[in-house]
Amino acid sequence: MIRDEKKLGLLLEDVREFVRDIAIPNERRVEDLDEVPEDIVGEMRRRGYFGWSIPEAFGGAELTTEELALANIELSQCSVAYRARCGTNTGIGAEAIVVDGTPAQKAAYLPRLASGEITGCLAATEPDAGSDLLGGLGTTAIGDGDAYVLNGTKRFITNAPIAGLFTVLARTDPDAKSGASTSVFLIERGTPGLTTGKPHRKMGQAGSPVSEIHFRDCRVSRSAILGGEPGRGFRSVMKTLNKQRINLAALCIGPAIRMLDEGLRHAKSRRQFGKPIGDFQLVQAMLADSKVEISAALALVVETARKRDRGEDVALDVSMCKYFASEMCGRVADRIVQIFGGAGYCGDIADPVERFYRDVRLFRLYEGTSQLHQLNIAKHLLQDPS
Ligand SMILES: Cc1cc2nc3c(=O)[nH]c(=O)nc-3n(C[C@H](O)[C@H](O)[C@H](O)COP(=O)(O)OP(=O)(O)OC[C@H]3O[C@@H](n4cnc5c(N)ncnc54)[C@H](O)[C@@H]3O)c2cc1C
Repeated sequence: MIRDEKKLGLLLEDVREFVRDIAIPNERRVEDLDEVPEDIVGEMRRRGYFGWSIPEAFGGAELTTEELALANIELSQCSVAYRARCGTNTGIGAEAIVVDGTPAQKAAYLPRLASGEITGCLAATEPDAGSDLLGGLGTTAIGDGDAYVLNGTKRFITNAPIAGLFTVLARTDPDAKSGASTSVFLIERGTPGLTTGKPHRKMGQAGSPVSEIHFRDCRVSRSAILGGEPGRGFRSVMKTLNKQRINLAALCIGPAIRMLDEGLRHAKSRRQFGKPIGDFQLVQAMLADSKVEISAALALVVETARKRDRGEDVALDVSMCKYFASEMCGRVADRIVQIFGGAGYCGDIADPVERFYRDVRLFRLYEGTSQLHQLNIAKHLLQDPS
């Protein structure tokens, strides 16, 4: 659903300008520094990019699911690090508070997340809790008077090294395994007993820091429980991830559009056998397949976003979006490297193609691996009584 065509048009134009004039010219700098420099983060804050999905009442833009998807498609046509820098605040690091926070929690955190004053993150995954998040969850939060004491380790948490606020899934009833035995806690950096590890050395996505989080007798007040009531943690995380899977699918489309642009440019300029390689039908097939798949992913994402905005159940649709768009992006990356030939393998010659190839590999792994989404799609099909 688009609430205000004119407002959205201005926002998308602003993002295109940011991508063209600031983000793309600084991609190599971000890669070399392995961070989005503060001057650019400041620019993103000034343009309001940290508050896209946060309600207007708390200083955000309150974009609908469809509007957010369209904005994400624009912002992801540059190094993925830029979107990742503000993306936890417009996604998994704020959404649980937006949907399930108490009025006091919303007032305390949403304005600071919307302005980008603090960076949020969602800490769900653990060394033994990946795809089996609920069954493997080992971080405990044990009640002690008016407080809870957390112990455990989180792994692979995006923006943990720079986060000021941690949305943490923990087990409040260690003897049970159901979703009702879990709760989400909102914990600020500086709380004794919470430390973050050294950033992981990753295959790609330089500039997007990811690390472990350690809880050692980390004592928080009962008021830190999201929504004020224990027992709703897993449900809140699933709600957050359901929306995020549409965002993530949108974030797979932006890099694919950019890579196809690069591939088209190269197909027109690179000459072999006396003509541009774009004249060869086998190269044309790779370009055509990429265009078709990008358009199909876009249609699926927009349709799913509209369904969600209408309040319909999208549990099946979000898995189709995330699965198809992330696999599509991987196939496009592979084809474009192929079109670049040897240059596509060498980052110093074919930046950003070589970089995108590494960066987009993650899309098929996080926020539910492709296999988990295939299982979810099949589960819905087999349950359908029709
Ligand atoms: C860079 C990065 C950033 C991340 N950011 C965050 C974050 O911000 N917050 C957060 O909480 N998590 C985050 N994650 C974690 C991410 O969501 C998990 O890595 C993902 O859910 C997969 O879990 P796993 O790595 O433990 O793989 P595993 O669950 O061990 O899976 C390994 C393989 O087994 C397959 N498999 C597992 N179970 C089944 C099954 N039942 N049927 C068929 N195949 C199966 C998987 O598909 C996969 O191929 C991040 C991960 C990375 C790498």
